[in-house]
Amino acid sequence: MNVFTHSPVTEHTFRGKDFYLKRDDLLHPQFSGNKARKLMPLLDAPLPQIKTLISYGSPQANSLYSFAALAQLRGWQFEFYVDHIPHWLATHPIGNYKAALALGAKIYPTGQIPASEMHPCEYIRQVRCPDETCLVIPEGGRCDIAQPGVAALGDEIIDWIGRNHITHPVIALPSGTGTTALYLHQHLTSHHIQVLTCACVGGESYLQQQWDTLGATSYPTVLSLPHKHNFGKLYREDYAIWLHLCRETRVEFDLLYDPMMWRCLELWLPNHPDTPLIYIHQGGLLGNTSMQARYQRKYPELPKNRYHG
Ligand SMILES: *Cc1c(COP(=O)(O)O)cnc(C)c1O
Repeated sequence: MNVFTHSPVTEHTFRGKDFYLKRDDLLHPQFSGNKARKLMPLLDAPLPQIKTLISYGSPQANSLYSFAALAQLRGWQFEFYVDHIPHWLATHPIGNYKAALALGAKIYPTGQIPASEMHPCEYIRQVRCPDETCLVIPEGGRCDIAQPGVAALGDEIIDWIGRNHITHPVIALPSGTGTTALYLHQHLTSHHIQVLTCACVGGESYLQQQWDTLGATSYPTVLSLPHKHNFGKLYREDYAIWLHLCRETRVEFDLLYDPMMWRCLELWLPNHPDTPLIYIHQGGLLGNTSMQARYQRKYPELPKNRYHG
């Protein structure tokens, strides 16, 4: 493959549990985390006809920034279609949105175009009508392009486990589309390594549906919380566990996906005290600035962490 692989593994303790952390947040300053893994084949694929990269999703998505970084590394134009851009974000750009704009991303709110009101995906197909110079990637890189890069992550893990004589570890990572967890599971299952995940977006039936769309025949293990957990909603418990995690490990975790996974692990770990845990840090730290600002607005009494202001 290319130079953006072989992230380090660090060792930490959280609330008495020792664990290993696969640092995909450190792959590259701009092109990191699981989006980098998923888009890895596009870094050096010979695509001489391509001039424009096109995708869609949320204007605060980690994938927006990763796509923008990829386009810049390849010298492509980048167009990103969103349903709408919140007024506060448009007037005070922050996080992934701001950084993507700085990398030259063109962001179009299709739901706000008069007489359009189309879903971004529909808009791309019916109005933008991409030609052969365009490369269109589904939201969050949810497609088979993601497989080889995630398999490479799997190989790094297998290699590391072997060299460090770790027996019967589990791998944990939270899911959005579930693409990363599924491809990792598929790659590690023949090595009898269990992959744990949780459904951060849309619940377990949505996750199952995503996996079926990707042609899954066996699945990662899904952990859950006793209460419904909505994506992007601000939970005091999420912030609390995130803050403790950052403070105790001295590593900044993602504030959108990681808290739910750790809350699930808190319930799972006591029943599996001797199982070595390898947690995948999937990046996404640029999104923390806007998440943390939202938490501070909603719960002004919450302590800030040492990373931002
Ligand atoms: C995108 C993302 C996820 C979810 O990845 P999927 O492959 O869509 O499941 C999890 N964590 C972070 C930090 C992300 O950026």
